[in-house]
Amino acid sequence: MKLLCIGRNYGDHARELGNAVPAEPVFFLKPATALLQHGNAIRLPRFSSDVHHELEVVFRVGRTASHISSERAWEHLDAYTLGLDLTARDVQQEQKEKGLPWEKAKAWDGSAPMSDTWTAIDPGTPPGSMAFSLERNGRVVQRGTTDDMLFPVPALVAYLSRFITLEPGDLVFTGTPAGVGPLAPGDVLEGKLDGRTILTFNVEAEGER
Ligand code: ZN
Repeated sequence: MKLLCIGRNYGDHARELGNAVPAEPVFFLKPATALLQHGNAIRLPRFSSDVHHELEVVFRVGRTASHISSERAWEHLDAYTLGLDLTARDVQQEQKEKGLPWEKAKAWDGSAPMSDTWTAIDPGTPPGSMAFSLERNGRVVQRGTTDDMLFPVPALVAYLSRFITLEPGDLVFTGTPAGVGPLAPGDVLEGKLDGRTILTFNVEAEGER
């Protein structure tokens, strides 16, 4: 399985990093080894001194999707939850300046901590607007609503499926709202979806290997 991640899908976040609002979706991949299951601590990698949290609503693919229309997109998704697209911002900045790919900053082991609480999708009544927020040590740092996505979920899934076949179990990260910021050892992160805390992670420094 793979993780397909959308960048710059909320105007306020694109602007906070000094990026233009994109004319079409921006995406990148993370491998399955990036997944960090609920119950494990986030371990900050030693190659970065500026790992940022990006809280995102994540959709799971239920049926293979290739060259699908946005009208059929919900039929190909079976559930949603919250996840974090952890980003080594210092490394990403270097890669951007050199015009190089982002994987070094985005695709490392454990860079995608996931909630284990999923909500099933009924394609007949697709989910409406969702509110989500992230607390870092008890203080709200990110707050968003899926209404503010520049490209809504069906458009994202249809777009991705023109380039890459989405397979059952693949995860689609749909972008982060403003308020991204650095993590430090000892932090406690809590993500809420529609008022319910469904994601909790502790942050540690990377240990000796
Ligand atoms: Zn992201």
